[in-house]
Amino acid sequence: MELELRRLRAAPGRQFSLRGQEVIPSLDWHNERVTLEGAVTAVGSVFYQEEQLYLTLEVRGKAHRICSRCLAELVEEFHHRDFWEIPLSGVGAYLDLRPWVESGVRLALDPRPLCRPDCRGLCPQCGADLNREGHRPGCQAVARKVDPRLAKLKELL
Ligand SMILES: [Zn+2]
Ligand SMILES: [Zn+2]
Repeated sequence: MELELRRLRAAPGRQFSLRGQEVIPSLDWHNERVTLEGAVTAVGSVFYQEEQLYLTLEVRGKAHRICSRCLAELVEEFHHRDFWEIPLSGVGAYLDLRPWVESGVRLALDPRPLCRPDCRGLCPQCGADLNREGHRPGCQAVARKVDPRLAKLKELL
């Protein structure tokens, strides 16, 4: 999305609405490579004042994610609205809004996505997918159902 700055600079303080799409095939987010489905829609408004741009931008889209508990694939529908102050000194006639669209997507993404709210996840001991199966034979998580705080206390004693 490119923003033409001439008409904004010509009318300080006047609000302009904007709407566009940005194709961001994928982005690195923490330790995850997130693939986006289709284009990201960006809607917002912008005005200019004293070589500063004041941008309100809402991004919306779909991302392919990995469940934080069981590692299943899922599609996250995200949206995020933010306000940005952008210094314009040294910027020519156009400003590419892609970096702000990308930042919006990063802020929109759920830090701990779940395939479903009650996902039971993988057992940290035996690795069984508890959504589909029980613990594997001999799993330590079943063998000793000791409260971890009590276990700690025992250790100290
Ligand atoms: Zn899950
Ligand atoms: Zn287990």
